[in-house]
Amino acid sequence: MPSSVSIYDSAAIDRLRAELKFEPRRLRALRTVYFKKFLGNEAALAELPEEVREPFAQRVVFHPLAVAESADSQLDGATKLVLRTTAGYAIETVIMRTGTGRVSLCVSSQVGCAAACGFCATGQMGVAKNLTSAELLDQVVLAGEHMCNEERAVRNIVFMGMGEPFHNEAAIYEAITALLAPELFHYPPRRILISTVGIPDAMLRCARRFPALNLALSLHSARQATREKLIPLAAKYPLDDLRAALAQLHEIQRQPVMIEYLMLAGVNDSLADAADLAAWLEGLDVHVNLIPYNSIAAVPNWQTTERPERDAFATVLRKAGFVVTIRYSLGADIAAACGQLVQTENRQLAQQQAMSAQ
Ligand code: SAH
Repeated sequence: MPSSVSIYDSAAIDRLRAELKFEPRRLRALRTVYFKKFLGNEAALAELPEEVREPFAQRVVFHPLAVAESADSQLDGATKLVLRTTAGYAIETVIMRTGTGRVSLCVSSQVGCAAACGFCATGQMGVAKNLTSAELLDQVVLAGEHMCNEERAVRNIVFMGMGEPFHNEAAIYEAITALLAPELFHYPPRRILISTVGIPDAMLRCARRFPALNLALSLHSARQATREKLIPLAAKYPLDDLRAALAQLHEIQRQPVMIEYLMLAGVNDSLADAADLAAWLEGLDVHVNLIPYNSIAAVPNWQTTERPERDAFATVLRKAGFVVTIRYSLGADIAAACGQLVQTENRQLAQQQAMSAQ
């Protein structure tokens, strides 16, 4: 039996075309329908000469992920897709329809996350498994097919779902290469954003490879001790190193980096915290995005900063000359808002698989 080939493995698909002996323009047409128009595999196959449709379909795996569930928010324009990998893990992808009519997609980079930030539900899962580039890209295609029914398209892709993208660097770069490729998705780099817990070397590697791609840093505090309390990995990647990396990023990219700042009442939201943040950011090309905290069951005692305090915090930064925006998370009622993505069943599955591997 000849082995099967992923539609996301371009080189293998090219070889299969040569083997089945059909014209390159037919494959280009198939790719346009599948990767740019998101009309699905049946419509894509219809672009092939009739005699190779069946043999091609038998050899190609179109979707490494299966849609297990799709939930629409009753509050706002969010849809959460729960997708299952062939290994049986469930991951989440969130479609966000904003008030302006633009659609953004929040893609997961891992099953769980090793960063284990105390405020984030994904970090509490106790699992961290890398997704393959095919699994990363299939999230974009499945969401694209979902939006096709509404005759809308995903405009922005943000790697802000479950996981730490830079703990899965190789697959992320492979996926981004495909997202940018003219013959595949052909997304403009400015519409793609990677959000990281803050791994300086990886941020620089990413910027060198994809200079026009947007980067976001989850800073959450400009005080080393506070940051370590929130983000265990902060001890390994200290603030001084991050600041040096941000300065270097500017040399490479010449475009602002997004600084994400989670607002936690009594933890990192005082006016003194704001002043420290402004001082730390001085001279850097950044845009500050303040994130209201979405509570999660694991840490019921943490609260978000109330609006008056949040506005006062933003004012300190604006007076210091920074552009500040407030993030409005969508999908709180379907557990799709920032920090709420979790599939606890994955923990059990990981344990079972580890035991059977012994
Ligand atoms: N690992 C990446 C992507 C994580 S999710 C990173 O750390 O950036 C994207 C953003 O949501 C991060 O800034 C993260 O800190 C934030 N976040 C996590 N839990 C949250 C919560 N409960 N409420 C609001 N934002 C949260």
